[in-house]
Amino acid sequence: MARFDPLASIRRALRELPEYQALEDLDAVAAEYGLDPDTVLKLDGNENPYGPSERAVAAIASAELHRYADAGQRVLRAAIGEHIDVPPASIVGGAGSDELIDLVFRLFIDEGDRIVTASPTFGMYAFDASLHGGETVDVPLLEDWSFDGEGLLDAASTAKVVFIPTPNNPTGNTLPAGLVEQLLGSGALLVLDEAYIEFATDESMVRRAAEDPALIVLRTFSKWGGLAGMRIGYAVMHPATAALFMAAKQPYNISIASETAAIASLKDADTLDARAQTIVAERERVAEALSSLGWVEPAPSETNFLLCRLTLGDGRTVRDALRRRGIFTRYLDTPRLADHIRFSMGLPEQNDRVIESFEEIGEELRNGGRG
Ligand code: PMP
Repeated sequence: MARFDPLASIRRALRELPEYQALEDLDAVAAEYGLDPDTVLKLDGNENPYGPSERAVAAIASAELHRYADAGQRVLRAAIGEHIDVPPASIVGGAGSDELIDLVFRLFIDEGDRIVTASPTFGMYAFDASLHGGETVDVPLLEDWSFDGEGLLDAASTAKVVFIPTPNNPTGNTLPAGLVEQLLGSGALLVLDEAYIEFATDESMVRRAAEDPALIVLRTFSKWGGLAGMRIGYAVMHPATAALFMAAKQPYNISIASETAAIASLKDADTLDARAQTIVAERERVAEALSSLGWVEPAPSETNFLLCRLTLGDGRTVRDALRRRGIFTRYLDTPRLADHIRFSMGLPEQNDRVIESFEEIGEELRNGGRG
């Protein structure tokens, strides 16, 4: 009898495994550039420069790590519900919003079903679509990064799910309210990913999501809460859909440590809100300083990061020049973003270092020296 062959037995959808462009390993890049990893300014992952709430860190130390978390997430859902003014029955916690994106696929996408994205955008939707045998129909953003409303509505009419981050990663702009309304009537499920909403002026759509079966809103503790490494996020939706999610998720999907950190963060919301506002003010200050250099054009942003078009050098050259100075930013290797670079805000004094580095690199590039 033939022995089991994993490669021949893998699910059809996975025979050509998609690749997710994950963040590069800090230690490895630091070693490549001869840098001490402790001195690196890490701005490539849209993380929070303040780190987590001190209360969250303290709470983890006394958490009951030997227990399984409550599969029904009762305390967590109640705490989130109070924070965003939504009934707990409309909330589902996940190991990062990434897990909740995966759950949307597990619940709604059969092989061959279509999802809609608007590139450039967060890569997880297309990645998960490939894993689940779904087809991604991309409706690229227009030249100025605004949404192609007609194109999106047209694509949505034959799709199961439309995934749009608002504000969008990496372009930083939000989906206009009028288009949200139109998409909600398209027949597809609209998933609005509000990972960066705490840095935006737009209102969150969570309360609407709790009532409208055509809408799911994703939120995360990774950015506002500085808990990217804990992996905790949540989705808000109609309670009937939430019941499906609760039934289909891994029972113990959230660790006790993550749950504890999230609840403590919500109790420290004023501190985290104030930090978010400082990040927003810094974003505006950095954007203005870089614009004045004449060769860096930051797109208007409603997030904790800036996407900048470069008219000297290109994205890879400038990323490497910043790396030599110990500053890690994100170059997104696609044709439309070849002359762009994305980086999140650091602490004010760290941002001064970023601005100075751009000044130096501009000089080098103008003098035809090493970029
Ligand atoms: N959505 C968007 C738009 C993001 O940019 C990111 C993180 N880069 C995520 C979701 C992932 O969030 P989480 O850490 O909660 O999985």
